[in-house]
Amino acid sequence: MAIVRFYEVYFPNVAPITSAEFVFELDCPSRVLPEIDRIEISQSLSSFVKLCCFLVLHELIHNKLYKKHGNPQSDTGDVFREEVKRLWEQGVYDGLL
Ligand SMILES: [Zn+2]
Repeated sequence: MAIVRFYEVYFPNVAPITSAEFVFELDCPSRVLPEIDRIEISQSLSSFVKLCCFLVLHELIHNKLYKKHGNPQSDTGDVFREEVKRLWEQGVYDGLL
């Protein structure tokens, strides 16, 4: 949750994530469940802090776009790319790449 709270400041006016946990049974690195304000990250990645930061940012973008558009947005779509660009220009990715 500390990582989530650190990066949520870059997503003003978006309903906050209320739970974030490492889970064993994921078949992907991470996912967001916007309907219940939850982020899950694969337990196998828990020791890789920078990667977890990156994944949290990725899921916070999905969370924002889901809540804005009412449906999941593609990682490669224009609205997702615009969010990455906005964050990049704010220096949010500094130190992660
Ligand atoms: Zn994604």
